[in-house]
Amino acid sequence: MQTLNELVNFLDNYLDIKNVKDASFNGLQVQGRKNIKKIMFAVTAGMETFKKAVDIQADMIVVHHGLFWKGVNPNLTSYNFDRVDFLIKNNISLYASHLPLDKHPEVGNNVQLLKLLGFNIDKPFAFYDGQNISFTGKADEPKTIQKIREILEEELGATCKVLPFGKKEIKTMAVCSGGGGYPQLTEAINADVDFYLTGDSTEFYHVVKDAKFNVICAGHHATETVGVKALADLIKDKFDIATEFMDIPTGL
Ligand SMILES: [Zn+2]
Repeated sequence: MQTLNELVNFLDNYLDIKNVKDASFNGLQVQGRKNIKKIMFAVTAGMETFKKAVDIQADMIVVHHGLFWKGVNPNLTSYNFDRVDFLIKNNISLYASHLPLDKHPEVGNNVQLLKLLGFNIDKPFAFYDGQNISFTGKADEPKTIQKIREILEEELGATCKVLPFGKKEIKTMAVCSGGGGYPQLTEAINADVDFYLTGDSTEFYHVVKDAKFNVICAGHHATETVGVKALADLIKDKFDIATEFMDIPTGL
């Protein structure tokens, strides 16, 4: 058992949430009971996620996509009210870590994706508001796009969309978990890597073809499961607490 305060302090510091610029209000978003025995980890906050937490008797939920975002109506009305009301009535805390969990050099979604595919961190990549939220990677042994696809589909349960117009032997890559659209695609092409991995499938077929480049879109949800899973493992090792990753695939 740990106190909520101790856990929140650890997560805030470890993920460096104060220094990461983000549209998400990262950190403890809803406060529940004081003592924590079990934490559920999931990609996205929502009623389905919250009900699962009650089912497994979790005291706290840690997510990548929380409830509160800049520019999104914050009023506690309609479904916003229902969500917060449900957490408060069940005394469950909600902690969110968006870009801090994309960019983290150990448990971050992007580093975990590089690791999964057998690439080592090379250079900072995916610049957002003056900070990099990802990295490019280098592999010791060249890989094929087909092999990379197989790993993603097997390990993440992902459904990949593949645009294989570049080099056949892949030794370098850039990655942007979740929604890495045109700005990051362009950055990847300019970074002169062999392959770009992202989540959302954007209509960039013709750009990829004309640039003679390789892209895999492995799904927004699937590419953002790896960070919360790695964070769950770390918390389990570090604290006397039960953790459980709850996969709630969205098909996106
Ligand atoms: Zn996302």
